[in-house]
Amino acid sequence: MTEPDVDVAILGGGIAGLWLLARLKAAGYAALLIENDALGAGQTLASQGIIHGGLKYAIDLRLNADSAALADMPTRWRACLNGSGEIDLRGAKLAAENHLFWARRTLTSRIAGFFGSKLVRGRVEALAQKDWPLALQDPDHVGAVYALDECVLDVPMLLAALAELGKGCIKHGRATVVPQAGHVVLQLEDGRCITAGRLVSTAGAGNEILLPQLGLPLQAAQRRPLQMLLVEQAPAPLWAHCFDTSDKPRVTITTHKRSDGSLVWYVGGLLAENGVGQSEAGLIAAARQEFATLLPKLDFSRSRFAGYRVDRAEGATEDGRKPEGPVLKRAGLITLAWPTKLALAPQLADLVLADLPPPRGSTQPVWPDWAAPAVAPAPWETLAWT
Ligand SMILES: Cc1cc2nc3c(=O)[nH]c(=O)nc-3n(C[C@H](O)[C@H](O)[C@H](O)COP(=O)(O)OP(=O)(O)OC[C@H]3O[C@@H](n4cnc5c(N)ncnc54)[C@H](O)[C@@H]3O)c2cc1C
Repeated sequence: MTEPDVDVAILGGGIAGLWLLARLKAAGYAALLIENDALGAGQTLASQGIIHGGLKYAIDLRLNADSAALADMPTRWRACLNGSGEIDLRGAKLAAENHLFWARRTLTSRIAGFFGSKLVRGRVEALAQKDWPLALQDPDHVGAVYALDECVLDVPMLLAALAELGKGCIKHGRATVVPQAGHVVLQLEDGRCITAGRLVSTAGAGNEILLPQLGLPLQAAQRRPLQMLLVEQAPAPLWAHCFDTSDKPRVTITTHKRSDGSLVWYVGGLLAENGVGQSEAGLIAAARQEFATLLPKLDFSRSRFAGYRVDRAEGATEDGRKPEGPVLKRAGLITLAWPTKLALAPQLADLVLADLPPPRGSTQPVWPDWAAPAVAPAPWETLAWT
């Protein structure tokens, strides 16, 4: 049997595929990543970039399996960003050192009890009012602000840094997957043919196409739709959740700079979940109402709004709930992989590497006449605003 061209081929250049490629290269595997659109084009550039630390914020604050999976992620990511981690991400940077949590004035005492509990001590820090960000300087409505052990990434920069790490091994194309004895053949539309010892598909929603080939039912993958809200000419930078009595944030706000320098708020949480059943105009009306309730002193008179529909694509759980960690499904030489969260890409790579045979020690092929994909634009660069 002839040796395959690469030990591992990856389909999909979102965070999962790019992180895995960097780990494979560092471990000495000959590898190739094929992206059929642009890097980050799926969920990754649509994400808010929050590296969750696993704290559950419901008032009955539980630390559950989800939390355990996430607990060491901020430390692991920060190590990579400062050059001392498993991959060197010094080319990327944080958008915010700490994601914040604010409590409405009316709920301050309940929240304070929770944050004073042993469970969360050392993982959150109460901020004095002088240190609250400008957007939250409204003590009539904001009762308390806490800094969480969570950081927020600049995702476009992260993708550019990962693309640099994978340079030469990241290519643009659409491949048909043909499993054969001992290896997997990838037939590209341009007539190229690549053989790989293993195939790992980190194609997000694109993984669904491969389910039948692996003998898996379509229900083995799931999508959770959202309609995110964007606010152009946002009043002030803010990276924060606002919680009250639900275990889900009412709003999760991150701030992003457009190429023209203007600030955009990207807003998820319950607002975006409830937005799924609303028109864009309905979402915008609900958002204006929510901001008027939560932060009534902020001035949105210059702001323009937009809705952005996007699905979370995940490996399915039996009860249809969000998986607690990364999900891998392997049949023979093909693995389908979903990180569940951007933050969990390092853990997904651990799981894939643990399931691979050792590298063969073969030379990394180069394909000088095969184009690399570009990094996709972020949603806030391309939307129409109202
Ligand atoms: C609105 C939103 C906000 C989020 N916020 C956060 C957050 O703050 N923190 C967090 O940890 N997680 C967050 N997430 C989750 C996170 O974005 C995803 O878990 C993560 O980005 C998934 O990465 P991925 O690489 O698996 O998939 P994707 O990012 O979807 O990448 C898949 C890639 O595969 C490509 N592709 C598809 N089909 C093929 C094919 N056949 N061949 C080749 N390439 C293909 C696509 O073009 C795409 O580039 C958020 C998700 C959403 C939707």
